[in-house]
Amino acid sequence: MQNLLDFNLPQLTDWLVSQGEKPFRAKQVFHWMHQRGEGDFAQMTDLAKSLREKLVKHAEVRAPQVKADKTSADGTRKWLFDVGVGNGVETVFIPEGTPGCGDADADEDSPRYRGTLCISSQVGCALECTFCSTGRQGFNRNLTVAEIIGQLWHAVRELKKAGWGARPVTNVVMMGMGEPLANFENVVTALDIMLDDHAYGLSRRRVTVSTSGIVPAMDRLAERCPVALAVSLHAPDDALRDRIVPINKKYPLQELLAACRRYLEHAPRDFITFEYVMLAGVNDTPAHARQLAELVKDTPCKLNLIPFNPFPDSGYGKSRADAQRTFREILQQAGYVVTTRKTRGDDIDAACGQLAGQVADRTGRVLKRMERNAA
Ligand code: SAH
Ligand code: SF4
Repeated sequence: MQNLLDFNLPQLTDWLVSQGEKPFRAKQVFHWMHQRGEGDFAQMTDLAKSLREKLVKHAEVRAPQVKADKTSADGTRKWLFDVGVGNGVETVFIPEGTPGCGDADADEDSPRYRGTLCISSQVGCALECTFCSTGRQGFNRNLTVAEIIGQLWHAVRELKKAGWGARPVTNVVMMGMGEPLANFENVVTALDIMLDDHAYGLSRRRVTVSTSGIVPAMDRLAERCPVALAVSLHAPDDALRDRIVPINKKYPLQELLAACRRYLEHAPRDFITFEYVMLAGVNDTPAHARQLAELVKDTPCKLNLIPFNPFPDSGYGKSRADAQRTFREILQQAGYVVTTRKTRGDDIDAACGQLAGQVADRTGRVLKRMERNAA
């Protein structure tokens, strides 16, 4: 059985041609699957009966199964998807404004409605950022294209049913579990489908990949599928960043910033978003803010401060409100656009960095860490 959610449009076209079909059928099938949310070939009524029968026999539209579905008091909704043998990944829907009242595209900066879906790319994560609950759990495997796009496919279907209008998801952020650029091919194929006018038709500006800074993959993304880019900075110097974002030892700050500037030559926006999680007493002093202002001065950017979301045994604390305010003011006085991310859905553990899903670690890292701690 071929899962058709694994294909972008050129791949679906090739597959249908290999089955003896005309290339234009691919757009019809794509439209049914992704725009109508139809998973049953028998219902795709404008396809020739012979094609429908062929599809029923050889293909399927299969998103991962839902294990849990929770809605927060603030409207945030989280799904836990079953991705096999004890594993689960999470997807979060974050609505702002009222659907149906005002076109989200009319004014880019103040949409009256925005529905953001935060999508996972891996089961766990191998990069071991110390403040991240996904990173603490170890790594199991990459998600397939069908498992990545299946999160969007399922969410759109469910949200339409729940009355969120014809276009419930206006923005996608690859900020769920996993490092998207460490699962490059599958992630970019899923991005193709998000952007395709015959599928979800999202603009490049409304699809954001967040990376902890895998430099060669940032260059590849710029060539292959330049969507909006967010980079998890979290520290203003290499010594501190080595400790909290260990991939920094491989791709240190100056290399990372140079890659950001190269990316901007291809990007759909004229800035990079730098994410900076505020860890009490670790990276949140006025000296850190001044150092950060100096560090990024040659890289067109916006700064997004993320309040740390605690999880059990994280060993970190949330920055105090006054520390966050002072930090932000120093950056603003230096001329930067700074936003502080609102924490949403924390009553259902759906806030940034709280996505734990269910990861059966295959790297043995969790064990090693326990031994290290015990020693
Ligand atoms: N792997 C990618 C994308 C997933 S994480 C990356 O690291 O960028 C999305 C964002 O949430 C990242 O900026 C990440 O550093 C941040 N994050 C991780 N743990 C967090 C926590 N406990 N509280 C707040 N933000 C966190
Ligand atoms: Fe992985 Fe991102 Fe978490 Fe780091 S912050 S461990 S890269 S998911």
